[in-house]
Amino acid sequence: MTMTGKTHVGLGTAIGIALSNRLPGVMNIMSIAILVIASLLPDVDHPKSIFNKYILPVKSNRVKFIVYGSLGIALLIFNFKYERIPELNVAGAILIIVAFSSHRTGLTHSISGVIIFAFVANYIGNIYNDKNLVYYFILGYASHIIGDMFTNRGVPLFYPLRNKNIKFPISFRVGSKKGNVIEEIIIICSILYIAYNIPLLLRIKLGV
Ligand SMILES: [Zn+2]
Repeated sequence: MTMTGKTHVGLGTAIGIALSNRLPGVMNIMSIAILVIASLLPDVDHPKSIFNKYILPVKSNRVKFIVYGSLGIALLIFNFKYERIPELNVAGAILIIVAFSSHRTGLTHSISGVIIFAFVANYIGNIYNDKNLVYYFILGYASHIIGDMFTNRGVPLFYPLRNKNIKFPISFRVGSKKGNVIEEIIIICSILYIAYNIPLLLRIKLGV
C-alpha cells in the first residue's frame, strides 16, 4: 500500500535537500526534478498513480498490463533491429516487469527495483553529462520505499527473493483518520522545510 503522491514528493524532496551537502557536486534545478520523479516512480505499478493518470487511457490493471507490456516488447524489438544498446534492453525489461508487477508482489517497491532503476538513471545521467543525477534518483526512490514501510501493508522489500511484505514496527493504515493526519503532517513539515531552504537552493542554482 502506498501513501499519496503528494506525501512522497514532499518527503523525497525534503530528504534530498537535507542530504544534498553530503552528495558530490551541487544541487540544481535538475536534482529537484529528479527527486520529484524518483519519489513518484515506484507507484508506476499502480494503475491509478500519478504517472498512469497521463499514460493509461483506462485506469485498470488489465490496461496497465497491455500498455506497458506492448511498449516493452516494442522497445526490445526496435533495439534488437536497429540500436542494440544494452541499457535499452533493460528499459524494455523494466516496462515488461511493470506490466506484471502489482502492489502486492511488485518489483518497484523492492531493493532489486532500486538497483535496476538506478542502473537506467545512471545511464541517462551519463547521456546528459550529469553524474550526480543517479544519487538524487536513488534518494528519491528509496525515500518512497521507506515511506511505504510505515504503512500497515508494508512493501515486498526483498522481492523476488522473498515475497513477504516488510514494514516498520510502527505503521499506520493508509486512508484511515490517523493515516491522513500523519500524511498531512509529513506534507506540511516537508513544505516548511523546503520553503526554509529555498534561499539556499537559489544561491546554489545562481552560483553566488
Ligand atoms: Zn508506493
